[in-house]
Amino acid sequence: MSADSKKPGWKDLPDGGKILKPGNSKEYKTGDWRTFRPVWDKSKCNHCMICWMICPDSCILTEDGKRKETDLNYCKGCGICAEICPMKCIEMKKESESE
Ligand code: SF4
Ligand code: SF4
Repeated sequence: MSADSKKPGWKDLPDGGKILKPGNSKEYKTGDWRTFRPVWDKSKCNHCMICWMICPDSCILTEDGKRKETDLNYCKGCGICAEICPMKCIEMKKESESE
């Protein structure tokens, strides 16, 4: 038997769309494909937590019921938080721009 015959064939691959290891989404840093980054001005924030509720990636961090920084490892830059913020304290900036 040659070494190549031991390699798995296409029939050995798992079906697409299956989650084989629950909780593995943490391994995928969705922030890697971000073009725009939310920049939060905490001096204007009233901690209403609307951005926290609406963020599709659950990447707005909290502590003692107050908003903290954004976890940029998982923020994909969709801009929903900036749109929804009643205090207009989140600005979407291009990744290439400095804060
Ligand atoms: S929506 Fe705006 S004001 Fe409310 S917690 Fe988020 S950043 Fe702060
Ligand atoms: S830009 Fe989108 S993914 Fe990032 S913190 Fe705001 S709502 Fe969440």
